[in-house]
Amino acid sequence: MDERAALLDEIAHEMRETARWTGRTTLSPRVADALAKVKREAFVAPGTEPAAYENRPLPIGHGQTISQPFVVALMTELLDLQPAERVLEVGTGSGYQTAMLAEIADRVYSIEVIPELAERAAVALSSQGYANVELRTGDGGLGWPEQAPFDAIIVTAAAPDVPRALLDQLRPGGRMMIPVGPRHGDQELLLISKNAVGIGVRRSVLPVAFVPLTGGGRG
Ligand code: SAH
Repeated sequence: MDERAALLDEIAHEMRETARWTGRTTLSPRVADALAKVKREAFVAPGTEPAAYENRPLPIGHGQTISQPFVVALMTELLDLQPAERVLEVGTGSGYQTAMLAEIADRVYSIEVIPELAERAAVALSSQGYANVELRTGDGGLGWPEQAPFDAIIVTAAAPDVPRALLDQLRPGGRMMIPVGPRHGDQELLLISKNAVGIGVRRSVLPVAFVPLTGGGRG
């Protein structure tokens, strides 16, 4: 088995192991196909390509990391994206999660606060042929009001609480995945479903460790 098939296998195993908490035993075909298709080696930092198919986060510079493949798979899965939907990502980082979303959704809007990472992600995404992605450099905690409301929102850095602006920019019926908790440790991955009358219902999915969300909009 090659290392990529081995990674998909390991993610499938981890899905079964965590099903009691996540409520999902397997990945849906759309997410599994995207995971098999997106080249993680095109998004990792130069020099770390040999580790691209290991199931762990890797440094991408500026104190940031490309998320663990299992976590990317799980967050994408729980967003329940439909092909016609528009999704906002906060924390473009390497662009790997962005590419996963671009495989599944109609349009992806992604915000990164560190300009050098945003530029590198833009190059990687266009070299991989993703034309349904719009990137912006700035504080993602404030959302992207001009493009709101979104069907789904994914935050890939941990906030002390759910930023109000993001909740406001989620449509009724929309879903948000966000890690919430202190800078170091004790964070929980939340799935927030906004119901028809606009109230966010929270479910804690798993304990996680993300880099902190920075900026004034972090809730
Ligand atoms: N999904 C990315 C995760 C990168 S780590 C990947 O797998 O590559 C989280 C990213 O969030 C970092 O790049 C960090 O710079 C960015 N970030 C932190 N605070 C932010 C903010 N307020 N607005 C936008 N991006 C932010």
